[in-house]
Amino acid sequence: MIAESLESKKKRTLEIIKRLKKTFPEAAIELHFKNPIQLVVATILSAQCTDKRVNMVTPALFKKYKTAKDYARANVRSFEKAIHSTGFYRAKARNIIGCMKEIMKRFGGKVPNRMEDLVSLPGIGRKTANVILGNIFDVPGLVVDTHMKRIANRLALTRHQDPQKIEFELNEIVPQKDWSLFSHLIIWHGRRICFARKPNCPECPINTLCPSRQDVAHAAVGLKNKG
Ligand code: SF4
Repeated sequence: MIAESLESKKKRTLEIIKRLKKTFPEAAIELHFKNPIQLVVATILSAQCTDKRVNMVTPALFKKYKTAKDYARANVRSFEKAIHSTGFYRAKARNIIGCMKEIMKRFGGKVPNRMEDLVSLPGIGRKTANVILGNIFDVPGLVVDTHMKRIANRLALTRHQDPQKIEFELNEIVPQKDWSLFSHLIIWHGRRICFARKPNCPECPINTLCPSRQDVAHAAVGLKNKG
């Protein structure tokens, strides 16, 4: 098989963005938050958990804890209890409280706006940092979560499995101004059409641009026969 050139991948990606934008004009982050501290907390809670579940837990949490100082001083046991249903609650409590202590100590209680500072905080890796940069500070950030990893591979935009390698490869393909938008579009696409187990290829708006599409005609017949 002849490898696709970078130029061709770039062109294909622009068309992917165009079509997904048309399909999901409202694509945006689905976590609820009103300020940077809330987004840090919600993003850490969203690891291995649905945004829907996180959004059920955060209203009470945000009412009780408002500032970095509130979190830094939280009682670990009662904090763990409050976030219990999001899973991995011990590690998440440790990370959130540890992160807020650092934000107090090193950044005067304010969430920093540079990648190198963000990734130096407990519980924040490049994925979370890019979510924060893109959604709070308007700094383009490419978010490599489970959807991005799966779909970028299906679209043959990368062959890597390592999130950082995927991010750096996509940074070369996707225009920088669109890094955050592309992240939202792919995550929405993954949640609504390009599912992990059974992607809905027949109804996919980018199926003509995807080398992994299942036989669309065949799949459509299969659906018909089922009905
Ligand atoms: S054609 Fe299928 S595999 Fe490819 S992006 Fe669309 S839903 Fe995913």
